[in-house]
Amino acid sequence: MAELTRTLVFVKPDGVQRGLVGEIIARFERRGIRIVGLKMVQPTRELAERHYAVHREKPFFESVVNFITSGPVVAMVLECPNAVETVRQMMGATNPLNAAPGTIRGDFGLDIERNLIHGSSDPEAAEYEIKLWFRPEELLP
Ligand code: ATP
Ligand code: MG
Repeated sequence: MAELTRTLVFVKPDGVQRGLVGEIIARFERRGIRIVGLKMVQPTRELAERHYAVHREKPFFESVVNFITSGPVVAMVLECPNAVETVRQMMGATNPLNAAPGTIRGDFGLDIERNLIHGSSDPEAAEYEIKLWFRPEELLP
């Protein structure tokens, strides 16, 4: 089996409000992915801006920061072989319109901004985001 790696995921405010937290976590558990950290967070503006810092110049930056801070999110660190890619495949394309059926966004989403879930886009982003969202003692060894 490939080396275990980690990725940062959070169920966005739309997923929490719609009662899809259990459904989304269940999919990861059924896949055999290990949850090594899990908590509900009301993101501050500072956290959201740091999280989406790579998108600072994009036209949707303000809007996505406003949305992510609009309500609680459920953040987790997931561990499995090729964690970033595995989770991204399970999430589906950014725009739910293009997300395949069977993916989280493809099964539950309709809107590019209210797209239910975040997952780190590459291993460097995962390392940055895990440190941003979790203290070391909040994670299983
Ligand atoms: P995320 O980073 O939230 O997991 P992603 O990696 O699939 O999503 P990114 O390109 O990183 O997509 O965009 C971050 C978020 O910004 C998207 O999830 C979406 O909510 C929003 N977003 C991206 N592109 C657009 C757009 N063209 N119009 C509006 N919102 C957008
Ligand atoms: Mg992204």
